[in-house]
Amino acid sequence: MCSEKKYIYSFEEGSLDLKPLLGGKGAGLSEMTGLGLPVPPGVTVTTEACNLYYETGEELPQFIKEGIQDYLTELEENMDKKFGDDANPLLLSVRSGAIISMPGMMDTILNLGLNDQSVKGLAKETGDERFAYDCYRRFIQMFGEVVLKVEAYKFSRKLDDLKEEVGADNDLDLTVDHLKELIDKFKRIVKEEAEVSFPQDPMEQLITAVEAVFGSWNNKRAIIYRDAHDIDHDLGTAVNIQTMVFGNMGNDSGTGVVFTRNPSTGENKLYGEYLLNAQGEDIVAGIRTPEDIQTFKDSLPEVYEQLVEVTQILEEHYQDMQDIEFTVEKGQLYLLQTRTGKRTAKAAIKIAADMAEEGLIDREQALLRVEPEHVEKVLHRQIDPEAEIEVIAKGLPASPGAAAGKVIFSADKAEKVAENGEKVVLVSLETTPEDIHGVLAAEGVLTTRGGMTSHAAVVARGMGKPAVCGCDLIKIDFEAKEFTVGDTTVEEGERITINGGTGEVILGKVEMTEAKLSEECKRILKWADSYKELQVRTNADNGTDASKAFEFGAEGIGLCRTEHMFMAADRVPIVQRLILSESAQEKQGALAELEPIQCQDFEEIFAEMEGRPVTVRLLDPPLHEFLPNLSELVEEVTKLRVKGEQEELRKKEKLLRKVKNMDESNPMLGFRGCRLGILIPEIYEMQVRAIFKAATKLATEEGVKTELEVMIPLVSELNEFEILREKIEKVAEQLLAEVDLELDYKIGTMIELPRACMTADQIAEKAEFFSFGTNDLTQTTFGFSRDDAEGKFLHEYLEREVIKENPFVTLDAAGVGKLVNLATESGRQVNSDLKVGICGEHGGEPKSIALCHQYELDYVSCSPYRVPVARLAAAQAKIRNS
Ligand code: PEP
Ligand code: MG
Repeated sequence: MCSEKKYIYSFEEGSLDLKPLLGGKGAGLSEMTGLGLPVPPGVTVTTEACNLYYETGEELPQFIKEGIQDYLTELEENMDKKFGDDANPLLLSVRSGAIISMPGMMDTILNLGLNDQSVKGLAKETGDERFAYDCYRRFIQMFGEVVLKVEAYKFSRKLDDLKEEVGADNDLDLTVDHLKELIDKFKRIVKEEAEVSFPQDPMEQLITAVEAVFGSWNNKRAIIYRDAHDIDHDLGTAVNIQTMVFGNMGNDSGTGVVFTRNPSTGENKLYGEYLLNAQGEDIVAGIRTPEDIQTFKDSLPEVYEQLVEVTQILEEHYQDMQDIEFTVEKGQLYLLQTRTGKRTAKAAIKIAADMAEEGLIDREQALLRVEPEHVEKVLHRQIDPEAEIEVIAKGLPASPGAAAGKVIFSADKAEKVAENGEKVVLVSLETTPEDIHGVLAAEGVLTTRGGMTSHAAVVARGMGKPAVCGCDLIKIDFEAKEFTVGDTTVEEGERITINGGTGEVILGKVEMTEAKLSEECKRILKWADSYKELQVRTNADNGTDASKAFEFGAEGIGLCRTEHMFMAADRVPIVQRLILSESAQEKQGALAELEPIQCQDFEEIFAEMEGRPVTVRLLDPPLHEFLPNLSELVEEVTKLRVKGEQEELRKKEKLLRKVKNMDESNPMLGFRGCRLGILIPEIYEMQVRAIFKAATKLATEEGVKTELEVMIPLVSELNEFEILREKIEKVAEQLLAEVDLELDYKIGTMIELPRACMTADQIAEKAEFFSFGTNDLTQTTFGFSRDDAEGKFLHEYLEREVIKENPFVTLDAAGVGKLVNLATESGRQVNSDLKVGICGEHGGEPKSIALCHQYELDYVSCSPYRVPVARLAAAQAKIRNS
């Protein structure tokens, strides 16, 4: 088979635009080559070649193999080196590089091209026999693991055994002879385990390596990572074949990873680590503890200066924070990778805000750079500064935020324990990509080895999970399932807290506080407000929530659920008396008791909102929700009968009769919402009095006029709305007349039933606003009861992709969203002043907010902690749509 399509690009031919073909790493290497930066030459085999590899039964098509061979011949000529040569060998690295970076999830092979001949060539050329044999043993190990699928520990155990046998503390203490002995042992392992001799033909090494790296696209950890990050499984990875440069050629050589800004805090200062006389994997694996990049200027000052210069060039070129891998070979700097650096939520916000201030990007770009989840994350909890804590150790503050949970020592167990609903902190020596499921399941990660760019640190930061790394004071005993630090022993299952912002490890679970918005975050949100068209309101039914939401920028209350005011412990007995009342007098008595309490609640809320709109929903849930549980009551009555306590028994029996009477087989579709208001109007009348009393009091005493919106729930028929509207108006007008006050108010309805959507044009003639209750609207459109669906089949539906997204989380555009749009349009056609918002859970979810922008709603309303998220998401929807 031959092809017109191009599957192999040299770094000179590629560019950033070709990222879908070249992957992030390949495109970055090409882009850097184009900028004239020092990049060792190489080629990228494209993501399309990866897909071909899978189509042809996990083998590279012949013409691609030939293409690689042709490029190699060219490279040999350019470099004046020969592949597999015993005098001047060309050595290569083979690395994966997906379109969306998946750090550490796929495979890499270094020092490729070494064999029994070329190792001598390398020794001759470098004049360093030890170095050459060290490279060879590393290569056999890596190739053995990645290509021949030999288990890693088989090699590392041999290395450890040898070190112990010869009394070497460090790999660097091994002599040439030791390394030669190790190479023989490694080859034997390959022979025994893979049942082949270690391949001596460099071209065979190369082709099988490329195939293995393509194959690693579908290894378990890569699949889990893609699932966790919503990355398409069909994208495939590219493979980069690049000339090797060596960081392990003495103390004028080294390797490192730098970020152009601090990926934890966002501080604008070069950040990273390096090791002298080492190869790249030494840093990532956490085998030796790397040095802070700031000390690099003392080790190799000229190279440091050059590094600072190129990092600045790269940041300006990409207009974003870069994560750069470099190697220094005998004083010569080489760049091996640049990519947009992963960052914590806190850093993402600071970097975006700072870069806009610096003029590197504009405000729209800054707003699009911050993900709504970032804003959500910075609102995460921190350790309460007032809490008494017992710090038992301190490691590196690798990923900020605080996490508490049971100590668990393995990823598998962490996953199991977390599945049972327990909070877990994964504690291990270091994590590897194989542990990804454990990291995902844990609240946070604590490692005893590894630095700020170790696997655990990078992955945790990416996930926004707190992590403390390199906490070497902690000694783990995996057999005994415990760790010790000084005199303290912590057993598996005991609770600890980690502070990823300070590196502290704390005994037990400690008090946490909710985080505050940073100055940079406030700045970003202020910019967001100047772009967004949707108003952002909050769902709040008490003064504390209203005040928090107001602080977070809520422009009003979109849903005040009054039933929550009935549910407080001191009110339930009054509500029960109301429900059980047998005479009008008894009923009035209970209502009279409730009214001032409700009024007080409204006063607090209205005062917090300082005149902004407040939508108060009249009572919605079925009344039996305020009565005791039926089966518990039956049990109590039975016990009382046995004991023979007559008076108490009579009371409970009466209650039981009522509860049985009110029991419904499907309360979600039962006697609730406006149906209650129509059949027991006294409750709504009491609520309306309380609302207007509170509003008029605030207006007369403080001069603050609340923009009142009274909302009738669960309307499906215009008549329901009309009947209740009339009653509400009567009570309101009477009250306003009593205090001689003019107060504008609106009466509207929640639209949460399909019939209400279909008859929205009729309802809008009489209603002044609609608020879509998309929780109920989703239930009734799908015919899913939320509790039953989420508890029983929805999970399975999602797993099997019967439906793509949980419709209770993200608004279902095709069905529920269509109804929202239809009702909005038809409602506005008859009433151009109709105010329209959404107050279901979707009002705080970014994708749903984008839909609400599209449907041209007036506002979204969400819980207080999602208000900042919604402000940003609303601005992004506007920017993306224009
Ligand atoms: C809704 O149904 O979307 C809603 C906000 O009401 P509740 O969740 O209180 O039923
Ligand atoms: Mg509802």
